[in-house]
Amino acid sequence: MAQFTVDSDVVRTSPDQIATALADPGFGRYFVDHIARAVWNPDEGWHGRRLIGAGPIPMHPGLAALHYGQEIFEGLKAYRHPDGSVWLFRPELNARRFASSAERMAMPQLPVDDFLDSVHQVVSLNKDWVPAGQGEQSLYVRPFMFGSETLIGVRTAQEHTYMCLASPAGPYYADPLTLWVTPNFSRSMVGGTGMAKCGGNYASAMAAEVEAHAQGCGQVLWLDSATRTLVEEGGTMNFFVVTADDELLTPALTGTILAGITRDSLLQLASSHGLTPVERPLELTELLDGIRSGHITEALACGTAAVISPVVGLKSPDFELTIGDGTPGPRTLELRSHLTGIQFGTLPDAFGWLRPV
Ligand code: PMP
Repeated sequence: MAQFTVDSDVVRTSPDQIATALADPGFGRYFVDHIARAVWNPDEGWHGRRLIGAGPIPMHPGLAALHYGQEIFEGLKAYRHPDGSVWLFRPELNARRFASSAERMAMPQLPVDDFLDSVHQVVSLNKDWVPAGQGEQSLYVRPFMFGSETLIGVRTAQEHTYMCLASPAGPYYADPLTLWVTPNFSRSMVGGTGMAKCGGNYASAMAAEVEAHAQGCGQVLWLDSATRTLVEEGGTMNFFVVTADDELLTPALTGTILAGITRDSLLQLASSHGLTPVERPLELTELLDGIRSGHITEALACGTAAVISPVVGLKSPDFELTIGDGTPGPRTLELRSHLTGIQFGTLPDAFGWLRPV
């Protein structure tokens, strides 16, 4: 396998400046020094694997991705443990999802080994940028790929560029959410791109997010677009409920839902919390009736950024409901501590999910 090679002239940020950035990193505000890049074209395949300095990239205004949106991305984190070591969480699942997103968008697939090597090297070369783990600080890693041919023509680009950035992420406060059930918008459709992590999915969701915020809600509860009777996701997170029968229930993956890595991890952790993991279609009426009757005791949304956000309410033009007593449920908090404990190295990694950097 060809390796990503490191440019020798990358300018490193001084330790003092890194310390200033890490004192209040926010999210996506500061970028590490070394980033990965590789290029694909039909003649050479993937080539030019390098770690280069972060900075502006020259592009012609005719760049294909700017016009027709051939773009995919991933998001994962590097965690610093109490002994100072740095770890990635299940990165091979991000690599595989990146390849399947590429396939859906008619883009070339980056080999899983290239994805893993680039992520590993970006974190390794920028280790000083990985915050201490207190307060759930981490280094957010953002692999992405875009059609980089200069061409205004509707066909798959004949050049694609892969890059991997990273950015320190400050403490994350997973505030309890009320979700807005929008009557106006859908995220995904059968045969569409809902299972792919492509920029267009997020662009088309923003109007609904604006609507949710105007309604005093943190995120949208997405329903299926065909019947608007099935629950799909919560904002840019997967959605779960806990039932009085001790089920940890999430909508089954049907092609319109993103297969979250946090989702998969929670399904595997369920049994150690006395919960039965269940994946099946979840009707909106079942959700509303369950909340009203008390059969649904807790709800949560999960993803890499927030890990788990408790969901404490639902709102739409037709109803406004409080889930449980309106505060984060005990199972939600237990699952959250368990998963963050594994990620930050304070609880045993019983499933072998962590990879050293
Ligand atoms: N759904 C959507 C639409 C997302 O953008 C994300 C974040 N990647 C998730 C679910 C959760 O996925 P993961 O647990 O892999 O971060």
